Amino acid sequence: MVQRELDVPLDAVWHWTDSSSALSIIRNTKTRFSVYVGHRQAEIQDCTEISSWRHVPKKVNVADGLSRGVYPADFIDHPYFQGPAFLYEPESRWPVESAALQVPPDPNEVRREQEMVMNTNTTPSFASILFPKFHSMFRLIAAIAVFLRYREWLRQKDTTRKGPLMLDERRRAELEIFRLVQESAFAKELSLIRTGENIPKSSPLYRLRPIIVDGLLCVGGRLQNAPIGFDERHPILLPAKDHVTDLIIADAHKDSLHASPNQITNELRKRLWIVGMKTKVKSSISKCLACRRYHALASNKWLRCPRPESPCLKTRLWSPEATCSAR
Ligand SMILES: [Zn+2]
Repeated sequence: MVQRELDVPLDAVWHWTDSSSALSIIRNTKTRFSVYVGHRQAEIQDCTEISSWRHVPKKVNVADGLSRGVYPADFIDHPYFQGPAFLYEPESRWPVESAALQVPPDPNEVRREQEMVMNTNTTPSFASILFPKFHSMFRLIAAIAVFLRYREWLRQKDTTRKGPLMLDERRRAELEIFRLVQESAFAKELSLIRTGENIPKSSPLYRLRPIIVDGLLCVGGRLQNAPIGFDERHPILLPAKDHVTDLIIADAHKDSLHASPNQITNELRKRLWIVGMKTKVKSSISKCLACRRYHALASNKWLRCPRPESPCLKTRLWSPEATCSAR
């Protein structure tokens, strides 16, 4: 604006600052600064030539008086009105910029780099296609058991079982389902453990010290010597966000006649460890229509059932299961 209003032709324009950090930001054309600093840097770089910016030492910076204050007695003779003395000298005598002024950018003013990981594997897995088609763990296990029997028949036609599915076949199918879920959800952790490497602290399984037992990822933990069964010591790990996990919780809720989240969590933990289990179970059960109807009914004081007379009768007399249709 000053240049535009002046009638005097200007051969060159120089900009001065006594802030070495501001100078390094103005001259920086590679680093991406935070939004506030970046906007001001871009405005200065657009309006001025970067090469026109120079450093002036604080001692001879006449503009400093504006920010630091000047006593009235010194105001009239302040060099602000005449300009710094070195400007009356030829350019060769101007303050020389030292190399120490080239300070690195402040990390707080640099925009944080965000890592984006893109999964280029677009081929859906067998489990991700098949499992969501089932709405009951019982039926899913049966389907996988049939698949396993068919695979066995292709290999050994003579010795393959015939007739209804047996308990051990269902058990094997269930473990196969868990294995497929783990291969999809904990692929990174499984590959690290198989190669003998440590799991990173950022992994949700880090604190569980997982181990691989019969090809399945189980909780390692500190209960090796506890007087409990192997399944309770090393429960099988499952992710919270998976269709199979939803089916397991829904089945456990129905099998226990709509028990509370704590009861279901305790029951499931005897052989399974769902990451973030308490929250997951609570959120799954909150979607149960029968439970919601029951609690809505119980909270109405006019419809509330009378308290049982004897402590022996404190068992829930009415079950929402009675209102549910058969599975
Ligand atoms: Zn329920």
